[in-house]
Amino acid sequence: MNTERHRILIVDDDAGGRRLTRATLMRAGFETSEACDGAEALQAMRELLPDLVLMDVSMPVMDGFTCCAELRKLPGGQRVPVVMMTGLDDVQSIERAFEVGATDFITKPINWPILSHRVRYMLRASAAINQLNHNQRRLSNAQRIGEMGDWEWDVRQGRVSASEQAWRIFGRDSGLGALEDDQFLTTVHEEDVERVRLACERAIENGDDFAIEHRVVARGGALRHVHQQVEVIEQDELGRAVRLAGAVHDITRRKDAEEQVRRLAYFDTLTGLPNRLLFTEQLIKAVAHAERNGEQLAIMFIDLDDFKRVNDTLGHGAGDDLLKQIGARLSGSIRGLDLLTRSGVDNNGSSNNGHTIARLGGDEFIVLLNNVQDAVDAGSVARRLVSALAEPVTVLGNELYVSCSVGVATYPGDGTDIETLLMNADTAMYRAKEGGRGGFQFYDRSMNASARARLQMETLLRRAVERNEFVLHYQPRVDLTSGRIVGAEALIRWQHPERGLLPPKEFIPLAEEAHLVIPIAEWVIAEVCRQIAAWQGNGLRPIPVAVNLAAPHLRERELPELVERVLRQHALPSSLLEIEVTESILMHDPELSLANARRLAELGVKLSIDDFGTGYSSLSYLKRLPIASLKIDQSFVRDIATDPDDAAIITAIIAMAHSLELRVVAEGVETEAQRLFLKARGCDEFQGFLFGHPVGAAEFARAMTRLQHQHGALALA
Ligand code: C2E
Ligand code: MG
Ligand code: MG
Repeated sequence: MNTERHRILIVDDDAGGRRLTRATLMRAGFETSEACDGAEALQAMRELLPDLVLMDVSMPVMDGFTCCAELRKLPGGQRVPVVMMTGLDDVQSIERAFEVGATDFITKPINWPILSHRVRYMLRASAAINQLNHNQRRLSNAQRIGEMGDWEWDVRQGRVSASEQAWRIFGRDSGLGALEDDQFLTTVHEEDVERVRLACERAIENGDDFAIEHRVVARGGALRHVHQQVEVIEQDELGRAVRLAGAVHDITRRKDAEEQVRRLAYFDTLTGLPNRLLFTEQLIKAVAHAERNGEQLAIMFIDLDDFKRVNDTLGHGAGDDLLKQIGARLSGSIRGLDLLTRSGVDNNGSSNNGHTIARLGGDEFIVLLNNVQDAVDAGSVARRLVSALAEPVTVLGNELYVSCSVGVATYPGDGTDIETLLMNADTAMYRAKEGGRGGFQFYDRSMNASARARLQMETLLRRAVERNEFVLHYQPRVDLTSGRIVGAEALIRWQHPERGLLPPKEFIPLAEEAHLVIPIAEWVIAEVCRQIAAWQGNGLRPIPVAVNLAAPHLRERELPELVERVLRQHALPSSLLEIEVTESILMHDPELSLANARRLAELGVKLSIDDFGTGYSSLSYLKRLPIASLKIDQSFVRDIATDPDDAAIITAIIAMAHSLELRVVAEGVETEAQRLFLKARGCDEFQGFLFGHPVGAAEFARAMTRLQHQHGALALA
């Protein structure tokens, strides 16, 4: 310590005393200043910032006690040592001096030879204390910033002392200083306390350091996650720990972030239910558990009936809302289960009674029932799920009646691995769907063959799109009055790798289920346009060709653009392409279909309603649609010559269509009698085996050329 720099303030009303003190201290290398009463001392204190104050007790104006008390209130006044000079044996003054904040005292008469030693010692002690305070502040700041704290446990005394930050993390008053070790353990969350106690006992027993993560509960109940690193800092001769030191780190934020990540990874954001990933993990655990304990499980695949229609007619927002409500209902009905089941599987809080419900995506949900006794159990749950949806759901002010189909597979009866179980539950669900809305179905082995076949077909169909395995056949359309060919219809076939050429009814319904109709239709439109252009190039007189579009396609916003683009690509007039759609387009999202139909009509592409009479067209809708013709379904045509009902229907359709200024085309005309009947009733055109079967493009072109040569025009004899 560099004494020369230290400035001592001497406060004494006795000039002689001051002089002597000053002389002594200066000789010892100190700098000095003087004040002759308390008021002057305070002034000097502010201006000079002395390192130590030597103060007489009794002084005029302001005595030493008052001065000391005041001095302590000044900025920086706390850390300056103040040494009071009291009378010998004046115990009262000494006590008073400490009360007002004096650091130490020396008695008068002053022992001059030791004064400077005394002063030097005081300075050193105060520097050490200041340093300590400073360090402690730094440590405390560091702990606060790092969300850390430290503690020490004196095992023999059974007490734990902790830093202010540690107390804050433990959620206890930092003024406590120390706690009995039992009390200390009460900060730990009750579910973790046993684990923490064991770790501590082991550390004490063996003298081993350890680290542990657990939760703490603050007085007010707030929950925190902490990481503790605990070291043994003192052991007895037997190696047992007698003193432990711990660093506690508040990892609540990290845990929250982890939880957030977990939620994102494991839960469906829309419904808040577990997602496929979490479900699969739970299923793996449940299967292992059931295997160990010889229990049964049930897996239920739930698929909403006609969900797509909600999405299509009310929009995706409504669809989402519906799924949320359905998810809540299904999970509510699972929660309410007081089945004869008990769960031993830790399902991570996402389950009810050990049963789990998850959303697999789209309108598919899945339920896992733990420890079912028998099929009756599972059946009653399935029934419960189905009936949970019996009440209508209100979405965007619409009351919707939703139903679901449920497929049930059980472990171990219907499969012992999760893939098989899931697949079989899925298969059973499809069976339930086939049986009508709102049903449930147990998996049954016989299903396997047909389900497998269906699955295989779907796979092949998907590949067919990529491999271009489709071909178009063309069937002429003939004007009944003139007998001329006025158009053709393109009809798709699939060149199946094993089964040969398949008609549309064998794969179009499956394609619709597998969402493949749109790519297929895009191919059809492009192929037809390419073909018309090629025929034109070969000198054939161009005729319009109609393509069949499945209803969902007319709702594709991009359809008009697609059509326009393809026509432009082949430099074709739009009048050469026609589109046939069935009446079912009117059932789903008529507005969007209508908008698209109008845009197509504006382009000049004619639209006709196919299979007319089989659906439930409302005339008012038909009137709004910009259609050019109706195609009467062949089921009416078949018996017109013999069945008076069919004859009446056809007559009515023709009259009605004409009143709406639509052309009428009869399909499936096979006999001359049928043709004559239709002609007599004023039907405009017909299509059918009578004139020609659908044939491949090359054959169709040959037939057309032949007709052109024979008649100079495409006319029927
Ligand atoms: P559609 O549009 O009503 O086509 C007429 C169907 O009747 C065709 O069957 C055709 O071969 C058949 N047909 C024509 N004349 C006669 C006849 O005199 N007697 C009988 N009994 N049948 C006749 P196909 O080719 O099997 O097509 C069936 C249905 O598949 C079509 O009915 C159409 O709805 C659909 N379809 C055809 N091609 C496509 C396509 O490219 N896309 C889509 N989405 N559907 C298509
Ligand atoms: Mg058609
Ligand atoms: Mg038809």
